[in-house]
Amino acid sequence: MTITKVLKKNKLMALVALIYVSIFIFMPDKAMEAMGNSVYYLVEMVQVLPIIFLLTVVIEALVPKEMITKRLGAKSGFLGNILSLILGSISAGPIYAAFPISKMLLTKGARVSNVVIILSSWAVIKLPMLANEAKFLGVSFMGVRWVLTVIAILIMAWITEKLVSKKDMLITSTEVTDKQIVINHDYCIGCGICAKMLPEVYEMTDQKAYVKAGGFKSVDDAMIQKTAEKCPVNAINVKKKGGAVA
Ligand code: SF4
Repeated sequence: MTITKVLKKNKLMALVALIYVSIFIFMPDKAMEAMGNSVYYLVEMVQVLPIIFLLTVVIEALVPKEMITKRLGAKSGFLGNILSLILGSISAGPIYAAFPISKMLLTKGARVSNVVIILSSWAVIKLPMLANEAKFLGVSFMGVRWVLTVIAILIMAWITEKLVSKKDMLITSTEVTDKQIVINHDYCIGCGICAKMLPEVYEMTDQKAYVKAGGFKSVDDAMIQKTAEKCPVNAINVKKKGGAVA
């Protein structure tokens, strides 16, 4: 792989590296400060993320999809909003830890608005945060801010769901009729065969195949199976819902 290709594939990292180099040349003091902050957050992420990934795997394996769909899915209604608010409020850890969990919830059937509520309450109205706020700024300040924030979160969740559908989101696995398609991105070489065979199911982004979320119930099971067989690196797994690879 040429350097140009590597840079193209990691545009954001390349931009950050370029900014760092520029700051080191023109403002070495600031560069050292920035480096210190980056190392601090890196260490924090290394400590937190393995636990979060473990938690995600445990929820993925132990909480049935039906339960998530029922409690947080399209028909969960206002109770689903309340449950999401509670889940976000009792969470712990930095907000970036919530993203893998949110993605897993979306894949298992949670609606977009409920994920927005979980993320937002996780970020700004966590219980430990409220307790500290009441201690330093007073109970009435905390109470008024909580009420207004909850109203804002509910409005934001409603608007986000109107603007962003699950079909717009790229996820690595989804269910089609009674099957689940899972793409292993460690194996995918980005040849695009699957997307050419079934463009209504797969799409390519940054030279990796992704499964489009929902909206293709009429796709033939045999055709999906064929894409898995044609994948040169066996990156596509087609499973029975909740079962072994078909
Ligand atoms: S066919 Fe396999 S390797 Fe090729 S893009 Fe699809 S998943 Fe990736």
